[in-house]
Amino acid sequence: MARHDPHSYADLTQGRIAHIDLRIEADFDAHLLNIEADYQLVEPVNGSLFLDAAGIDLARAVANGRTLQWEFDQQDELLGERLHLKGLNGVSSFTLAFNTSREARALQWLPGVQTAGGVHPFLYSQCQAIHARSVFPCQDTPSVRFTFSAEVEVPKALTAVMAAEQVRVRERGANKVFQFKMPQPIPSYLFAIGAGNLVFRELGPRTGVYAEPELVEAAAWEFAENEAKIVEAEKLLGPYLWGRYDLLILPPSFPYGGMENPRLTFLTPTAILGNRGQTTLITHELAHAWTGNLVTNATWEDFWLNEGWTTYAETRITEVLEGIEFADLTAMYDEQRLFEVMERIGMDSILTRLKVPSEGLDPDSATTIIPYYKGCFFLKECEYAVGRERFDAFIHKYTGKYQFQSLTTEAFLDFLERELPEVFEKVNVQEWVYEPGLTDKRRKPQSALYDEVQSVLSVYRQGTRPARGQVADWRRYQILSFLQALPKQIPAEDCKYFEEILDLEGKNDAGHYSYFYTTCITSGYQDILPRVEEFIDRVGRMLYLLPIFRAMIAADWAKPHARRILEAVRERQHTITSMLSTNCSKKPGCKPIPIQNGTSLRIP
Ligand SMILES: [Zn+2]
Repeated sequence: MARHDPHSYADLTQGRIAHIDLRIEADFDAHLLNIEADYQLVEPVNGSLFLDAAGIDLARAVANGRTLQWEFDQQDELLGERLHLKGLNGVSSFTLAFNTSREARALQWLPGVQTAGGVHPFLYSQCQAIHARSVFPCQDTPSVRFTFSAEVEVPKALTAVMAAEQVRVRERGANKVFQFKMPQPIPSYLFAIGAGNLVFRELGPRTGVYAEPELVEAAAWEFAENEAKIVEAEKLLGPYLWGRYDLLILPPSFPYGGMENPRLTFLTPTAILGNRGQTTLITHELAHAWTGNLVTNATWEDFWLNEGWTTYAETRITEVLEGIEFADLTAMYDEQRLFEVMERIGMDSILTRLKVPSEGLDPDSATTIIPYYKGCFFLKECEYAVGRERFDAFIHKYTGKYQFQSLTTEAFLDFLERELPEVFEKVNVQEWVYEPGLTDKRRKPQSALYDEVQSVLSVYRQGTRPARGQVADWRRYQILSFLQALPKQIPAEDCKYFEEILDLEGKNDAGHYSYFYTTCITSGYQDILPRVEEFIDRVGRMLYLLPIFRAMIAADWAKPHARRILEAVRERQHTITSMLSTNCSKKPGCKPIPIQNGTSLRIP
C-alpha cells in the first residue's frame, strides 16, 4: 500500500473523499455522538478503501443498497485503527452508521459546573492534529479536502455551532436540530463542532461572537475590532474567502489559545482580559484563514508552512494595527521564547528543524513554538532579501495559486525559487529549513521598549529592586519579557513585591501568572501553592500549564504535590492536555507520552 502521510492510513491511490453529509445526534448523558454519514468519492472506487478511525463503534456500512464488508484490520496506539472497506465495486458513495467512543480524543464533554453559567453541559471538539478520526472515519490527512453538510441534534436548551455556515434551525420533540453546510473544501483537522448554552452577538458586517450569556458582553467588547483586522489581513493576504469570521468562546479547559476552525475560531476565555491586550491571538487565528486553512500543509512534517506563515502574517498585521514599536517588542519577546525552547530541547534536536521528520511521533507532542517563530524569522529573511514590495506581491500570488490546496515544504521551496530566485542567493534556505538550531546570519529584532525592561532587570540583578513608577506604564509584552527573564530563584519577598508593583492581580492575565507561578515555585515560595492549585484547576491552556508543572517536578518541595494536583484536575481537563501532562497511569497499556516541546514530562 502507498501511504502518503506518516500520520494516516489513507492510501490516496485508492481514491479520495469529496463530500460528507452527516446526521449527528449528541447524547450528553452517554457522552457520545450518534452519527450516520453519507460519503461521496471524487471517482468510483474498486477494491479497498482505507479510512482512519479511533474508537469508532461501527454498526453499518452500506453502498448502493447492499451491505459492505469491513474490518478494523490494523491498529496502532498513535494512529488508531484502520477501517478497511472491502469489495467496493465501482462505488462512488457509501453510508456508515456509528457511535463515537466515550474516550474520543477530539471531543470534550463538560458538565454544567465547569461552564461559566454552571447549569447546562458543554461539548466542543479539537480535531487538530489527528483526532478527526475519533469523530468520524475519514482520510485524516491534511492532503485530502472535502466539503460537508451536517445536521446536529441537541437538547432544546442548547445551541449547536460548527465551523460551517448555519442554514436553519428547527425543533424535533424535546430537541433542536441545527443544519449546516460547508461549501469550501476543508482538510479533516478543520472539522469542528460545539454545543452549549450559547448566545450570539454581532460585532461587524462579517464578524460576531458566540459565548455563554455570562461572558458575551465582555467578549463582544474585547473583540469589537475584528472587522478592522480582516480589512488589514485582506490587504496583505488577498480576499477573505470563507464568508463570515465568528468566534466561539470556550470554557477554560480548552487546551489551546485558539483553534483556527474556518468561519468560527475556537478561543480560550483566557484571551478576554478586559483591555484588548491579547487580540494578537485573534490576528493569528484570523491569518490562518489564508495560511493553513486556504493553503494547507500536506503533512504534519510541513507544519511550519501553516504556523511560520501565519506568525509572519500576524506580525505584519500587528505592525499596521498596533504600530512598529509594539511589533518590535513582541518580536524580541518571541525570539527569547524561541531560544528558551531550543535550549531546553537541545539546539541539535531534529525538532528544531523547520521540516521535522516525525514518523512515529505524536504530532501533538512534537509540536513546539519552533515552527511558529523560526518559520516567521525565515520568511522575514526572505522579505529582507527582495524587499517588502516584491515579497508582498509574492504573498498574493502564493495564496492565490495554491488556494484550497495542500502543499509540501519542497513544493513551496520550488515555488519560492521560481518566483524569487534572489532569495536563494542571499539566504541559506537549505540551512534554515533542513538544519537544526537557528543561524546567526540573520537580521535580529531590536526594540527600545524591550531594552527598557532589560535595563531594569540588570539593576535588579545587582541588588536593587525597581520602583513602582518604573514599571507602572509597562505594556503586556514588557511585563511578560520581565517575568520571562527574571533569575530562576529570587527571594519570596521579591515575588510578592513584583506581583504588587506590576499589578498582576488587577491585570488578571493568565500569561503573566504562568511565568509568575513558575518563578515562585523554583524560588521555594511555598505559601503560593494553594493559588497555583486554583490556577491549574481553572486554566486548561497547555502553553500556560506546562511550565508550571515542569517547575513543580524540578523542585523537591513541590514534586510530591504535582501528581496529586494532576490526578485531581484530570477529569476536568481536555483529553489532550491530560494525555500530554501525565503518563496516563489510569489507562491500562498506556505508555509515557512525550510532552509538548519535545521533552517527556513524567510525574514521579
Ligand atoms: Zn497557529
